Formats: sequence, structure tokens, C-alpha cells
Amino acid sequence: MGNSVEGKICLVTGGGRGIGRAVTEALAKAGAQKVIVCDINDTAFAEITAEYRNVEGMVADVTRTAEVAGLVQTINEKYGRIDVLVNNAGITRDALIQKMEDDAWDAVIDINLKGVFLTTRAVAPIMLAQGSGSIINMASVVGIDGNIGQTNYAASKGGVISMTKTWAKEFPRKGARITCNAVAPGFIRTPMTEKVPEKVLNLMVGKTPLGRMGEAEDVAKAVLFLASDDASFITGQVIRVDGGLTF
Ligand code: NAP
Repeated sequence: MGNSVEGKICLVTGGGRGIGRAVTEALAKAGAQKVIVCDINDTAFAEITAEYRNVEGMVADVTRTAEVAGLVQTINEKYGRIDVLVNNAGITRDALIQKMEDDAWDAVIDINLKGVFLTTRAVAPIMLAQGSGSIINMASVVGIDGNIGQTNYAASKGGVISMTKTWAKEFPRKGARITCNAVAPGFIRTPMTEKVPEKVLNLMVGKTPLGRMGEAEDVAKAVLFLASDDASFITGQVIRVDGGLTF
């Protein structure tokens, strides 16, 4: 099959814009049978579903157990399998520790950490029953190295990396060919980093050996590889896509 996701049923959370959108496009162009994009509102995925015949949008908030269960049930009833899960939905609510409010902590942990747990837990029985699957979690270099003003975000992404390693051990326990890896982007040009002051972005680019910000497509290419059959012996890994900013 080669570097292919042909015929696969994929689910990308938060796939309406930014990195998730680039991931969705990469999977769709590579011949996935269907890429299901979930987002909290249907306007987020209107464009991408109009553009690709094999992309379908479904509304679900990854922090709500019942919505996630409903989403996964709908996909399973319609397509009978889920081959690729990309846990991409994520937010930032930055502040220095002494100024970080409880709700900023809760919101980031809820979406970035609990959302990944809830979605993977819902997909688990399907992948285990079919005996195969690829789970790709969107982490961040911040989850490895930390970052000023991102206590909540660093904690959430560190947790995502720990869950990735746990699932890489747990899912194949009874012989299922299920891999779980994380991608850790550096500074990527998306709506999320539009909020970061220009001065900070320039500083980061200055520290990046490859001398530029990443594009969402740079991250999507790594995800596409991990979702493909070519990556079938790779699991429990964290792949940095950061132009060499950290290592
Ligand atoms: P983004 O442009 O803000 O996109 C995030 C997406 O997640 C949006 O489509 C958003 O939907 C969706 N989302 C938010 N809350 C959700 C929820 N509760 N349920 C379902 N979907 C939800 O961010 P991005 O830069 O593409 O980031 C994507 C992932 O990469 C995140 O996990 C982020 O932490 C990670 N990452 C990004 C960078 C970077 O530099 N950009 C670096 C490292 C890691 P709405 O549009 O409806 O709000």
C-alpha cells in the first residue's frame, strides 16, 4: 500500500481551520475514503466540506462525553470503522502563573487533555474490535520543554505526551496493530499564533535554525506519514516539527 491512507476512515477533531484543516486536506488528497471533521460549530468546516467530496463535517465538543460518544457512534454506524484518529482540537489561554485564573486553567485542561482522553476512549472499542488503527495526538514542544506564560498549556501537552506513551503500550496488548504517536509542533502560522505578539514570533524565528515559522502543511505532512501504512512499526514516539527550535 505504501505511503497511503487510501480507503481509510479518519476522524480529525478541530479540523475546520489551522493545523487540523491542513491535516484534513492532506488525508483527503491522499485518498482517504472519508475524513470526518468535528468542530464545535458547523460554520468552521463549511469551506472544507464544500471543497472535498471525501470530507464530512460533524458538530461535537470534545469536552462533552455524550457529544463525543454520539459523534463516534454516528461514524461507526455510517462507515463501520475508524482507522485514523487525529486528536487535534486545542486552545491556549496564556498568563504568568500568578495571574492565571482558574477558568483559564480549567478551559485548557478540559479541551487539550480531557478532550483527547474522551475522544480516544470513545474510539478505543472500535479500533480494538477491528484490530488496527493509528492514533495521532497533537502535542507541542511546550509539552516537552515548558514555556513562560503557558503553565496550563504545558501541563496539558505534557499530559498528552504521557497518554500517547501509555496508549502505545496499552492498545496492542492483545495483538491489535494499533499505533499511537504524538506530533509536537513549534511555532506554526495559524489563527492560534495570530494572538502571539510579533516581537515574540520574531524572537522565536531568530532561535530557529531553519529560520522561519512553520506552516500548517509542515505539521500535516508528519501526521499523514504517521497515519499511513509506512509508519506501521512506529509507536510511542513524539515527532517534533519545529524547524530545529528545540532538540
Ligand atoms: P486553531 O487554529 O485555534 O484551531 C483549533 C481548532 O480546534 C479550531 O478549529 C477550534 O474550533 C477547534 N476546537 C477548539 N475547541 C474545541 C472543542 N471543544 N471541540 C472541538 N473542537 C474544538 O489552532 P491550531 O494552531 O491549528 O492548533 C491545532 C493544534 O495544534 C492544537 O492542539 C494546538 O495546541 C497544537 N499546536 C499548535 C501550535 C501552533 O503554533 N499553532 C504549536 C504547537 C501545537 P473553532 O474554530 O470553532 O474555535
